[in-house]
Amino acid sequence: ALYAQLSDYEGDSQHLMDYARPYLLSDEHVTDLATLARALVDTQITRLQYWYENPAADGKPIIDGSPYNQWVWWDSLGYGALPYDVVITNQLVASLETYDVAMHSALRGGINGGTMTYSKQGRYGGYVFISVFALLNDMAMLTSLRDDAHYSDEQLAQYAAATLAHELGHLFFHYDHPYGASACLMNPTPLLRYRTWYEALNTDACRALQLPQMQTGAVHISYNPNW
Ligand SMILES: [Zn+2]
Repeated sequence: ALYAQLSDYEGDSQHLMDYARPYLLSDEHVTDLATLARALVDTQITRLQYWYENPAADGKPIIDGSPYNQWVWWDSLGYGALPYDVVITNQLVASLETYDVAMHSALRGGINGGTMTYSKQGRYGGYVFISVFALLNDMAMLTSLRDDAHYSDEQLAQYAAATLAHELGHLFFHYDHPYGASACLMNPTPLLRYRTWYEALNTDACRALQLPQMQTGAVHISYNPNW
């Protein structure tokens, strides 16, 4: 599934490899999209394991068999009668999925910071959610993927707002991801380095790049007719 997803970016494989390389557990054998996909899966499974092994405040593992950490659960919410266009959660969203695996989430061990997806009742045909779990908490896995050991309330508010603006960029303008174009809001946050990502944003510099991923209508809202 990851390889299929990466193949959408075929002409852009060098950008994908350049974006991912510093964040993989090992980039030793990465020479093309197929080897990149294998390295991503290794990285994702290894980092995701942390959440099965470490307890939450209730003493149970953070991923405990309930569905709420699963990205597919959030991706499918809009197929019911979801009455919201925007959802903000403090729930960890991290899982291993068999479809629509995003490279930047795989690098973080499956952690998803936000998604725009189909919603039957959505005014714009979709809804967005963001998860602030990785901004709010300071567990060892999070800080190892982050640039600061702790984010202040002000940082938290800024990065959450920017993440929401990113998702609204998908919803309102159907922008895609210009991987590695650090000036652009639609460049996915590398690992969980929100400060580095945020401080590099520069609207004019992004516009000057005239990237195809930053054109209106670059992506469609994905819809699963079987749901
Ligand atoms: Zn995005």
